[in-house]
Amino acid sequence: MENLETKKEVPAQEPKLNFGGLEKRPTHKRTAPQGDLKIIPLGGVEEIGINCTAYEYNNDILIVDLGLGFSEFDYYGIDAVVPDIKYLVPKRKRIKGIFVTHGHLDHIGAFPYLIEELGFPPVYGSKFTIEMIKQRVDEIPGLLQRLLPKLHVVEEKDVVKLGSFKLEFFHVNHSIPQCLGVCIQTPTARVVQTGDFKFDNTPINEPVANFGKIVEFGNRGVDVLLADSTNSLKKGYPVSESDVAKNLEDAIDRAEGRVIVGTFSGLVGRLYQLIQIAVKQKRKVAIAGFSMNKTLTLAQEIGYIKIPPGLLIQMKDVMRYDPSQVLILTTGAQGEPDAALSKMSSEDYKGYQIQKGDKVIISAKTIPGNDRAVQLMVDNITRRGATVAQLDDLDLFTSGHGYQEDQKIMLNLVKPKFFMPVHGYQYFLRAHGETAVKVGVKRENLIIAQRGCVIEGNRFKGFKITRKFPCEPLIVSGSGVGDIGTVVLKEREQMANYGMIIISLMADKDRKLTRSPFVLTRGFVYVKKNQELIQYISDSVEKIYAGAIKDGLDNNAIKDALSNEIGRLVFKETEREPIIMTILNYV
Ligand SMILES: [Zn+2]
Ligand SMILES: [Zn+2]
Repeated sequence: MENLETKKEVPAQEPKLNFGGLEKRPTHKRTAPQGDLKIIPLGGVEEIGINCTAYEYNNDILIVDLGLGFSEFDYYGIDAVVPDIKYLVPKRKRIKGIFVTHGHLDHIGAFPYLIEELGFPPVYGSKFTIEMIKQRVDEIPGLLQRLLPKLHVVEEKDVVKLGSFKLEFFHVNHSIPQCLGVCIQTPTARVVQTGDFKFDNTPINEPVANFGKIVEFGNRGVDVLLADSTNSLKKGYPVSESDVAKNLEDAIDRAEGRVIVGTFSGLVGRLYQLIQIAVKQKRKVAIAGFSMNKTLTLAQEIGYIKIPPGLLIQMKDVMRYDPSQVLILTTGAQGEPDAALSKMSSEDYKGYQIQKGDKVIISAKTIPGNDRAVQLMVDNITRRGATVAQLDDLDLFTSGHGYQEDQKIMLNLVKPKFFMPVHGYQYFLRAHGETAVKVGVKRENLIIAQRGCVIEGNRFKGFKITRKFPCEPLIVSGSGVGDIGTVVLKEREQMANYGMIIISLMADKDRKLTRSPFVLTRGFVYVKKNQELIQYISDSVEKIYAGAIKDGLDNNAIKDALSNEIGRLVFKETEREPIIMTILNYV
């Protein structure tokens, strides 16, 4: 997909090196470029997730990434959070484009919820990234059709001009194909944003990060570097993907029976390795889990993974093959109860249960907080007589995010004047900042930002945080964004703690009750004298209702009166505050 508005230039026409870091300018009289660049993180700087950074220069806005966060909050029934974009919405006509670094959910996941509100600006990313976005927005009916004309595939060599922004790209290693870092140039500043990255000298099925290009940007002069802080507390380098592949291969080779590998569907590089191993070791592959199937199809479509005909088998056919000829790839490495691995460890999953002689390899890091769920699952697997290899200690897993030494390399290549760590909790950002100071960034040039901070400046006067506006992530509930406020959350908490009482009334057209009120409780923990209490509630409801009718209250007022008075009465009896719901039916 070519964008007609986008001028693509060949890199050869670019100024080669070092023109004071800016575009080559004629030496005769011409006023120096004016204006400050604003860098505004809307997420990703107080958490791992909801990555989204806005860049603003004069009347133009560029967005980098539009990610989702997973709720670590103990909220009830809330599954995700997205960046607060109220800063951008009134200015949406000025948004020239969104550049997406790679296809992970914490960078693309908010598209379905926010892209419409942002006015469908053009979107740029590598082929794989764009395909992941398509898949993601397709979950909302009709949305893909509207977004499709706005999606533009870029290659690493492309130069994209979006208003005052000039974008150039560089490949980095991570854990998903075709990750691009970006160099953003405006007339008065140059910024490099790495995206999620590590340096892997022996990556699998992709080139090594483009050191040459990163050095070139560094030589031109970079004012601000925004870099991935996920592993800023970890010393050294992560294990190379090649070593992990070798270890996985050995582990699978040693198994005499069936092998089941649990991993994340987002670790597309890992899926590639496992397919290769299966081919080599002559095992058929069964895929378990919806997202795993989807990702694999996509990876095949773009030609990243080639699956020989006859390699894949259905889960229901697993038992028809000799155990030594089967490899099952599954989701659920975090012990998620609804995912395939958990299911097959405790019950039947599409005709298959983990059994004696199986070897389960968990090739994924346990996310803090999931330890208990993983342990329960491992126990279930062991109980069934299967063995479990958890890979942290055996190097069966590696991180897609660089450790301190990778971070130092990036800093040394880019040589930024100002450094703004991103993609991490505040503590991670600070640790990354310390690493930067070690390799020569001035301490006063560290920018530890929070959501909604406006970092402003240019090449001549430098950069600093000038202000901060409130910017709280929005909660996604179902398909609605930001539609549940604190009231609803309070209700859910109340319900979880005290349960619910439902009062159902049936009345005729003269508003006379046709039967005694029906009282139902759910999760209401006061069971001791439950029957008595329910009778008491029912009697009281009748009295309150009669009184309300006499007072001529309308239906809503009656419901309110019932909820309030019954609430008071229940509290007096039980010292509990369940949610009271009143249903009034007229027949
Ligand atoms: Zn990522
Ligand atoms: Zn990320």
